[in-house]
Amino acid sequence: MPIKIGVVGYGTIGARVAEAVMKQPDMELVGIAKTTPDYKAKTAISRGMKIFIPENSVESWKKAGIKVDGFIEDLVREVDVIIDATPKGVGKANSEMYKKEGRVAIFQGGEKKDLVEATVVAQVNYDEARGKRMIRVPSCNTTALSRISWFFEREYGVERIIATIARRAADPADKKEGIIDNIEFDPIKPPSHHGEDVRTVLKNLNIFTTAIKIPTTHAHLHLINVKLRKKVSREEILDALSEERRIMLVSSEDGITTTSDVFELSRHLGRPMNNIYENVVWVESIHSEGEWVYLAQAVHQEAIVVPENIDAIRAVASSLDAESSMNTTDRTLGIVRGRI
Ligand code: NAD
Repeated sequence: MPIKIGVVGYGTIGARVAEAVMKQPDMELVGIAKTTPDYKAKTAISRGMKIFIPENSVESWKKAGIKVDGFIEDLVREVDVIIDATPKGVGKANSEMYKKEGRVAIFQGGEKKDLVEATVVAQVNYDEARGKRMIRVPSCNTTALSRISWFFEREYGVERIIATIARRAADPADKKEGIIDNIEFDPIKPPSHHGEDVRTVLKNLNIFTTAIKIPTTHAHLHLINVKLRKKVSREEILDALSEERRIMLVSSEDGITTTSDVFELSRHLGRPMNNIYENVVWVESIHSEGEWVYLAQAVHQEAIVVPENIDAIRAVASSLDAESSMNTTDRTLGIVRGRI
């Protein structure tokens, strides 16, 4: 029996997760919950998705001439697992409905860690989601930092991580957000919240983060300094990182020198919605000096949490182990490892 999934909130993250669910051999997308009768509702229907709406919006859907399949509560009752991808804070309000219907729910990084029983990044702590009713997939930055930190921790042991995050100001489709000609501290008084958020996944990691917001939409860029528990050569790190799941290695030798090149690469790879699910690490950026290692990675904020949501579904609703789940997710989404 496939795991029945409902996606509540069909925006940047929800639309991508819904598409990814449809590609999984062991999952069925029962439908999506949507508040606005717009072009995204029409394209979702044309892709075979069922639409569920809030009861108080019936008139606007009728007026738009879009036929729907029921109310959000109906969707919640029909599924095994809800993916809540609504804007920050709405998930908390929705959680009462999921609890009332006894449904397992997976929230996104905008929700506070206290709402859930565990925050999960598949490579790191998939098993922590077992038996839980409410879990969270962390934000894009936390997911990427957790993956790379876990690599260093598992392979060599980490003494300290100091990371600077240049955050994209808005997503490409945002019309109301974003700085245009400015660089903002985020915040001016360190640390940024990201280090603490990574510790919801990697509990004892000694990580310190600072962040700035930059006027771009394609991706975040992380500049990461790691002090390892032993000296490791650059070559050794590069070899090990080439084998690491969900890390894509790119090179300036191939003309990939900016985050726009990474965005363009996603198009040439034929990725749906330009999705880059992997941490994108520049080969040339990897540098080691004694115990210290430096590298730079780009993070496609719109897509990096998609595979994490898919694995989180299996962690809460199946008996599949982490490796098998990630193998299926990576195969169905075309996720690569190593040098492109
Ligand atoms: P978004 O604004 O693009 O999409 C949210 C969607 O939910 C919108 O379509 C909105 O109309 C809909 N919605 C609002 N209230 C609703 C309700 N009550 N029922 C059903 N639908 C409702 O937001 P997003 O960027 O996809 O973010 C969703 C979550 O994912 C947030 O927690 C965010 O922090 C997190 N996240 C976002 C990014 C990113 O870069 N965009 C990355 C990682 C995690």
